Amino acid sequence: MSVMEIFETMEYGPAPESSSLALAWIKEHEPFQLFINNQWVKPDQGNYFESNNPANGKTLTKVASADKADVDTAVAAARQAFKSWSKTPGHVRARYLYAIARHIQKHSRLLAVLEALDNGKTIRETRDLDIPLVARHFYSHAGWAQLMESELPDYQAVGVVGQIIPWNFPLLMMAWKIAPAIAMGNTVVLKPARYTSLTALKFAEILQEVGLPAGVVNIVTGEASKAGDALVNHPDIDKIAFTGSTDVGRSIRKSTAGSGKKLSLELGGKSPFIVFDDADLDSVVEGVVDAIWFNQGQVCCAGSRLLVQENIAERLINKLRARMENLRIGDPLDKTMDIGAIVSPGQRAEIQQLVDIGVKEGAQLWQPSTACPTDGSFFPPTLFTNVAPASTLAQVEIFGPVLVTLTFRTPSEAVEIANNTRYGLAASIWSDNINLALDIAPKLKAGSVWVNSTNLFDAACGFGGYKESGYGREGGKEGLYEYVKPAWLARSQPKNATAPAVVADQDADEGTGNGVVHTDALEALTTEDQSSLPSIDRTPKLFIGGKQVRPDSGYSLTITAGNGRIIGEVGEGNRKDIRNAVEAAHKASSWAGATTHNRAQILYYIAENLAVREAEFARRIVEQTGREYADALGEVQTSLSRLFSYAAWADKYEGSVHRPPMRGVVLAMKEAIGVVGIACPDEYPLLGFISLVAPAIAMGNSVVVVPSTQAPLSATDCYQIFETSDLPAGVVNIVTGNREELSKVLAEHHDVNAMWYFGTAEGSKTVELASTSNMKRTWVNYGRSRNWLHRPQGEGQEFLREATQIKNIWVPYGE
Ligand code: NAD
Ligand code: MN
Repeated sequence: MSVMEIFETMEYGPAPESSSLALAWIKEHEPFQLFINNQWVKPDQGNYFESNNPANGKTLTKVASADKADVDTAVAAARQAFKSWSKTPGHVRARYLYAIARHIQKHSRLLAVLEALDNGKTIRETRDLDIPLVARHFYSHAGWAQLMESELPDYQAVGVVGQIIPWNFPLLMMAWKIAPAIAMGNTVVLKPARYTSLTALKFAEILQEVGLPAGVVNIVTGEASKAGDALVNHPDIDKIAFTGSTDVGRSIRKSTAGSGKKLSLELGGKSPFIVFDDADLDSVVEGVVDAIWFNQGQVCCAGSRLLVQENIAERLINKLRARMENLRIGDPLDKTMDIGAIVSPGQRAEIQQLVDIGVKEGAQLWQPSTACPTDGSFFPPTLFTNVAPASTLAQVEIFGPVLVTLTFRTPSEAVEIANNTRYGLAASIWSDNINLALDIAPKLKAGSVWVNSTNLFDAACGFGGYKESGYGREGGKEGLYEYVKPAWLARSQPKNATAPAVVADQDADEGTGNGVVHTDALEALTTEDQSSLPSIDRTPKLFIGGKQVRPDSGYSLTITAGNGRIIGEVGEGNRKDIRNAVEAAHKASSWAGATTHNRAQILYYIAENLAVREAEFARRIVEQTGREYADALGEVQTSLSRLFSYAAWADKYEGSVHRPPMRGVVLAMKEAIGVVGIACPDEYPLLGFISLVAPAIAMGNSVVVVPSTQAPLSATDCYQIFETSDLPAGVVNIVTGNREELSKVLAEHHDVNAMWYFGTAEGSKTVELASTSNMKRTWVNYGRSRNWLHRPQGEGQEFLREATQIKNIWVPYGE
């Protein structure tokens, strides 16, 4: 191009970044082996797969394909390394993480080029976003390694962690996984995505340079059906951390159900990008570019649904089209490109298929007139209008550069459309009215909400989903909990016994009970006590929507004491009763919006009303369990203390304000999860019930509770207490009956957002399996009992964390 032509067209000249050093590095290492125990190991079966450059379709190199035997070797190395790494002082671990961060910066150019070559994303993005965020993640987590002893004193490492990551941000997803894991003293076996292994292997070389102890990080490249499957099902792995599609996340939840493996899932999304009519439309246009054309739209939290207020829709769409005409698509290594290549021809074909369906379903397709390269896997930026809210385009994650537009009239309609998806990863809100934006943010069911911004990430801020976008957070202190467990929980493996026993705990720091069972204790009651027992014909019904209602089945269950004596009857709830209870719980959702002060007041009031009936409740425990009266009274008193604790926490378990490196703040809000199903333990009929219900409702959830099958009467005795404590109808619903059957129904229910289960090992597995219907969060005990009297086990932040989910609201400021 002559200077004159450039002057006339104002076209960019080519500005390619050289790939020669990266290609030389690749040649030097070919074929790539597995990284196990700090050594390069040939794959057991000698299999390799090709890694390609999606921008030209050419093969870059060959990479080892791990199978089960290789995964076994890697897990064994990680297990061996865990012994010393988990005991390595935090400061020493911090030094290693710091060194890793430094080395990433030193190799940043090579990493940026490799990533662009292997993935097809533009060098502009790998250089300015991926690699700097990777370094920042290791720096930030060097700090958490340093602070673990003081900031998380009651926690320890989980063990050996299996990590599986996708191809869209290969090195960044790896950093999000490895940094917190090793900072907290875990060891790792990580499997990169098949399309994009190279930067993980360069990272392995960095670990060798840094001298990280052998076996702390192992990298097994390979395919989903071999290495991935072997990792997920390995018996000696304590936790799986997965990022990828919701379908695969679901299958991992199924295969690990009942195994006791801790699980975190970062899954797909269909995130709304909401534009109100007072927004600055020029900023909005640039925002949309970053939301959906950044990384070719292969972003889990891409703003793929443009929700625009009807009166400005036409203006915005016209501006967008003009901007799209200027987007540059082509060679990822050219520094002037906006859009690179789709990761593989197969992925490109999937995008095309969904676009074709959209056209067939009647949506209006628009693509810019500029040429799209045809020699690699390129896909032009695409805009759909006239999209029906229930159509495929509006509901299915496309994972490509395809934006679909929907319109709304009022803010509440915007919220409704925004939440009309099974996902809940992220959302953007554009408005110059800060009151409006901050009113909308809490109403969106999404883990990250960006105000007048989009796709912002930082190591200090948690990232993760609501609903079917998964559970767990990555980043910030909130993300660390995925890689630690309470110190009292010695091991996370399930025990074999199916029925939990009451454990005596010498360390009990409160209550008078030691859990020792005396079956003849009832006989020891005075005549006076005996005569005041409730008569058998007082059969408690179910408690649904604030009313005592008859069970749908019309049947009752007989409750007997340990010695076989009949002590009462309760209604036998069924599937229909659970459905009614869930509906009632949803109707009580305004409880989540009640002030924390108000929730605290009601918990105190419940305690007050329980206190006046202390003796009666103690006798009920004696009846059901045969324990000593004094022991039972201790359980009631501990229950009172527990209610006070959660009344206290109600307005004190607060969020935080993160300060990422930008002008602005990130508000990390702890929000209720929604409707929580709770299955209560058999031991401690009152305390087990209170210990679970109180934290759940203190945080604003409404609950459907299934009490212990054999000892439900302490829970049903609470009906009157709830009725007289100003607790809004439907916040607590209680369905008695067969705990195992009813828990399964709750776990399967689409409108239940989390399920807590404290029963048998078998029941725990059933709940985890059934939870995949809507990927609800689960918290189960794998048949292990806890000492509910002992505060570290029976009360505190572990419960509050399970009762909440964190939303990070990004609020940039300044002109
Ligand atoms: P994918 O689910 O197909 O694969 C992800 C990883 O899992 C790969 O390493 C793959 O080999 C492995 N895998 C696949 N099936 C497996 C199985 N049955 N057992 C064990 N491992 C298995 O996803 P992808 O196509 O690589 O990535 C795209 C998806 O990832 C999108 O849905 C996107 O939204 C999601 N994603 C989510 C986040 C997040 O943080 N929430 C981030 C990036 C991508
Ligand atoms: Mn590749």
